Amino acid sequence: MSLFVSSRSAFRTAAPFKRQFQAGRRYATEPTTSEPTTPAAAAAPKGTNPLLYIAGLAGVLGAGYYLLPTSAAKQAEVKVKEAAKKVGVPSGPPKKALTGGDQGFVSLKLEEVENINHNTKRFRFKLPEDDMVSGLVTASAVLTKFTPTGAEKPVVRPYTPISDEEATGYMDLLVKKYPDGPMSTHFHDMVPGQRLDIKGPLPKYPWTANKHEHIGLVAGGTGITPMFQLCRAIFNNPEDKTKVTLVFGNVSEEDILLKQELAKLENTYPQRFRAFYVLDKAPKEWSGNKGFITKDLLKTVLPEPKTENIKVFVCGPPGLMNAVSGNKKSPRDQGELVGILKELGYTPDQVYKF
Ligand SMILES: Cc1cc2nc3c(=O)[nH]c(=O)nc-3n(C[C@H](O)[C@H](O)[C@H](O)COP(=O)(O)OP(=O)(O)OC[C@H]3O[C@@H](n4cnc5c(N)ncnc54)[C@H](O)[C@@H]3O)c2cc1C
Repeated sequence: MSLFVSSRSAFRTAAPFKRQFQAGRRYATEPTTSEPTTPAAAAAPKGTNPLLYIAGLAGVLGAGYYLLPTSAAKQAEVKVKEAAKKVGVPSGPPKKALTGGDQGFVSLKLEEVENINHNTKRFRFKLPEDDMVSGLVTASAVLTKFTPTGAEKPVVRPYTPISDEEATGYMDLLVKKYPDGPMSTHFHDMVPGQRLDIKGPLPKYPWTANKHEHIGLVAGGTGITPMFQLCRAIFNNPEDKTKVTLVFGNVSEEDILLKQELAKLENTYPQRFRAFYVLDKAPKEWSGNKGFITKDLLKTVLPEPKTENIKVFVCGPPGLMNAVSGNKKSPRDQGELVGILKELGYTPDQVYKF
């Protein structure tokens, strides 16, 4: 079960920026809320040891399979699978919709569209089978492809799903529309029932639990989606103790994507997850940072370059990339490290550009 169910808790951007800023690199040493142990534990029925429950059912099934009439045996088997599913016990490796390699593009049906704000929608694609997972790993993206009417060549663009990697039957993409952008406009014109060619996973930065002690995430706009994928991998895994500092720049408050999910992380893991919001067009009452992401802010809040085993991830529009780290040269070439991160003393291997 995901920790990223939508939360109704108030979004804490109202917390005075000074307080956010002064807190800088420090994290609370004592948790203010107790962290859940495992998602499965949280999902288990209270007062029941879920594993014993399943073992019991499975035992009954095993012993009685040949004795029970076929329909009863089948019912018992279904019960075991349902119980296992409820407590998150996998009954074998899940089938993957996207397998990479020679698979090529897979045509997926759009199932649902949700308006998120004035220029962004969430698109839910149905996977070929209900019990399939997307097949994505952290960190990786998908490629989407379509050929505009009259065009010779197809348009191909990468996107990072925002649904959990273990979610079965569907995959969600969050897409911002650029008026002159062919792919994002195509997305926004799509209606449920239509299909889109999707390929993946497109490997990015392979994540394993505790790979780094502390990571910095510098994101602008939809650049939050790969950062959110990293956060899911870290905070959905009770073994992973990585600290995460997010600096998230947007034009206006309504452009802040995934804000409820990020607020939930701040509330659940205050000693390990910190978020600093920067708005270009801030409302009067805005207490976060205003303007662009600055050297001062990054110097204050990111893990220091001298610290052992840290990494800073950057993703956003070309202007932000130029200012913070420099752009990638190509999907396989990270390009030279320039900009604020270089000036602050980070080395190229401490920075990853999505
Ligand atoms: C690894 C990766 C993951 C991505 N994940 C997502 C995602 O989850 N959701 C999402 O909406 N986009 C994501 N993008 C961006 C996406 O791939 C497309 O670039 C974007 O949707 C625009 O495509 P387009 O064909 O509509 O417009 P394009 O023809 O590519 O661009 C149209 C105009 O918009 C500008 N532009 C393009 N991309 C951006 C940007 N990111 N920020 C600001 N200006 C931009 C261009 O400079 C141009 O002026 C991701 C990009 C990468 C590299």
